[in-house]
Amino acid sequence: MNELSISQNFLKDKLLVNKLLKETNINSEDLVLEIGPGKGIITIELSNICKKIIGIEFDKELFNCLNSINITNANIIYGDFLDYKFEDKLKIFSNIPFNITSDIFNKMLENMEYIESFYFIMQKEAAEMYLGTNNESMKSLLFKPFYSGKIIYNFNKTDFDPIPNVDIVLVEFIKKEYSDIKKALPIDYLNFLAYIFDNNEPTIEKKVKSILTYEQLKRIKKLLKCNINDKISDIKWVIILTIFNLL
Ligand code: SAH
Repeated sequence: MNELSISQNFLKDKLLVNKLLKETNINSEDLVLEIGPGKGIITIELSNICKKIIGIEFDKELFNCLNSINITNANIIYGDFLDYKFEDKLKIFSNIPFNITSDIFNKMLENMEYIESFYFIMQKEAAEMYLGTNNESMKSLLFKPFYSGKIIYNFNKTDFDPIPNVDIVLVEFIKKEYSDIKKALPIDYLNFLAYIFDNNEPTIEKKVKSILTYEQLKRIKKLLKCNINDKISDIKWVIILTIFNLL
């Protein structure tokens, strides 16, 4: 990645950071990873409430600057978060570089076993897509069985420097104690979603007809007390979950 393309929107108010951290489940037992600590406004506040921080910063100058402050329980690494190899269970708190939002979310999925919770300061529109706020998508459904997500703070644009031209929120994803997909493996669920989204049939019923028996289909309709002839753009999480768990 070219350093010129690094996206940076710095937070200005450490009292606000402090208030936000209090809204999270981060505590003194936790190892917390921060993507892009920048000048350290979050890192310094985090260092007072968690056990240890790993910060990964891709801007050499910011890295040198932050590394020289020497926050005793923080290990600041120079590098690209997208190359980071997870080794321990941890939580993540980050004001993420918006230009790699979708790569970051993919990395969350690939490393679910390590990530207990993640908190992202990010563009509202992207947050709503991953949460399935207005309608579900492949992106939101991928996370649904494993994490409970919601927006926990709406920022003012003036909280950032430079002022962004889109709305920014803090979003929380907390790992569910038990995944909703019962006995199945995450990869089976992923393949199921890919099957549903890739095939060209117009409704859910038509999409799943070839993988369900008549009896299964009948049972699903009874369980859901509805038809499943929604268009994929109107698909509800409960329908996806019910069908998948019956397979
Ligand atoms: N945490 C700071 C900075 C947030 S801006 C604050 O809240 O004020 C996003 C930060 O991510 C910047 O410091 C930017 O240099 C860094 N960054 C951008 N791309 C990155 C990548 N691929 N890996 C790690 N850090 C990255």
